[in-house]
Amino acid sequence: MSDSTLIWQNGTLKPWHEATVHVSAHALHYGSSVFEGERVYATPDGPRFFRLADHTRRLFASARVYGIDIGYTADEIDDACREVVRANGMDAAYVRPVVFRGAGGLGILPKDDVVDVAILALPWGSYHGDAREQGADVCVSSWNRAAPNTFPSWAKAGGNYLNSQLIALEARRGGYAEGIALGCDGLLSEGAGENLFLVLNCELVTPPTSAGVLVGITRDSIIALAGELGIPFAERALPREALLYADEIFLCGTAAEITPVRTIDGTPVGHGGVGPITRALQDAFFGLFDGRTEDRWGWLTGLDEP
Ligand code: PMP
Repeated sequence: MSDSTLIWQNGTLKPWHEATVHVSAHALHYGSSVFEGERVYATPDGPRFFRLADHTRRLFASARVYGIDIGYTADEIDDACREVVRANGMDAAYVRPVVFRGAGGLGILPKDDVVDVAILALPWGSYHGDAREQGADVCVSSWNRAAPNTFPSWAKAGGNYLNSQLIALEARRGGYAEGIALGCDGLLSEGAGENLFLVLNCELVTPPTSAGVLVGITRDSIIALAGELGIPFAERALPREALLYADEIFLCGTAAEITPVRTIDGTPVGHGGVGPITRALQDAFFGLFDGRTEDRWGWLTGLDEP
């Protein structure tokens, strides 16, 4: 990135190379960061954040889990997110607010008053490339998600992503686009960075929020869109073999959007290709950004509005 890319850091916009962190930062040693991934879409009405307030709410909830005082209000964080996109003159962006315990001593017990906040805005197209159209080849990971009383999965915390890295690295080594992890109970949970949906007997199903998953904002949006489309839906604990019984499977997240899965461990999903329910949900979801789907929820907000 060049210095024409501006990063918001602790209240000021800085050129890319000046937005640095000291090597003693607590988060670097101990994973003590919480963050968000948000998208701005180029819509016919101009650039629009997708569910900014919900992302900020989750950021504050993640910080609360780890006792991190962000030091800004939610409105100030929202303002800063809009500011960094405006300052970079972007129509579409992936926006990454990160709050972390900063520089100081090396004790595990953090200094409560050393908290840094940064917000990056970067161009980011489809996370899994052409998989949005073709479907992705996915494996079941040999790594499990952490047990619920170890690392809280609802919190979007930096440390949780060590587990995600193990899943994603193993998948890549095996030639797969992504890995799906089982929870500590052996039941399906989610991908390294996406929630998981299956179509089983014409019903859309996803593991419950107690399955060691991040409570995804895309997941929630898909559940709402499925309701609009009259697609039967249930949250259900699912065994691994449900992947082989499913007619359709897709992964979803802010970066991944809606990525169909075409094979699981080399076995084609359903009848192959992208299934009709996945396609209908993709149409409804991407329709929010080109005006084909009415935003009945107020999910889209502009770069100037508070
Ligand atoms: N699970 C994990 C582990 C993730 O990292 C993400 C991406 N944030 C998701 C699910 C999807 O969440 P969201 O739809 O809020 O981006």
